[in-house]
Amino acid sequence: MCHKNIIRLSSLVLALTALSASTSMSALETGGNAVVSLVIGHSVENRQLTVTRVGFGKGTACVLVGAVHGEEVNTFLCVDALREKYAAHPELVPGSFTLFFLPALNPDGIAVKRRLNSHEVDLNRNFPSKDWLADAFDMKRTVKGFGGTGPASEPEVRAFVVFLLETVKPDFEEVRVMAFHSAAPPVGYMQPGHSSLTIPHSNT
Ligand SMILES: [Zn+2]
Repeated sequence: MCHKNIIRLSSLVLALTALSASTSMSALETGGNAVVSLVIGHSVENRQLTVTRVGFGKGTACVLVGAVHGEEVNTFLCVDALREKYAAHPELVPGSFTLFFLPALNPDGIAVKRRLNSHEVDLNRNFPSKDWLADAFDMKRTVKGFGGTGPASEPEVRAFVVFLLETVKPDFEEVRVMAFHSAAPPVGYMQPGHSSLTIPHSNT
C-alpha cells in the first residue's frame, strides 16, 4: 500500500552536492573478505544503518533494502534472511555481481512498528527525486510535512543516497536497487520495487 512513491535515483545526482554525510571508498574495501559489514549512518534515534556486502564482482551492484516503512516488518525479515543466506554462502553470488543488503532503512520505525521515521516523515517520500514534495501523498490523501523539510532531509535517506552515489556507484558498471514493501502491512505480501542509477523508476 505504498502508492505514488518515487525513487528516481537518476535524479539523485542533482542532490548530491547538497548532502553532507559521507562514506569512504576505503570503508568498503574488502581486504580479501567476501563478506564485509559497514555502518553507513544512523537513524534519527541513533540506530545504526548497517549494510552487508557480499561478493567481489565489479559488473552489477545489486542493493536490497527492506523496511523503508517500519510497519512492513516482513520486508526486514526477508532482506535479513537473504543477507544471512548469502553471507554464509558467498560462493552463490554470480561472479560479476556484488550484493549489498540493508535490511532496515527505518530501524526507528521497526522498533515501534510505525510507517514513519521519528520525525514523522515517510522515508519513501523523502528521496531527492525531481518531484519531491514537502506535503506528500499518503495512501489516501496529501499529508503536510510527509516528505520532510527538504529532499533527503532525513538522516536515513541521506546516508543511503550518499552510500549509493559515493561508495557503490563509482565502483560498478551498473547499480540496481531493490526496495521491498508490503502490500498489506504488517502481515501481508511483499512486493519488491527496483530502480537503477540510470533508469528512472517508480517503486511502490
Ligand atoms: Zn512500504
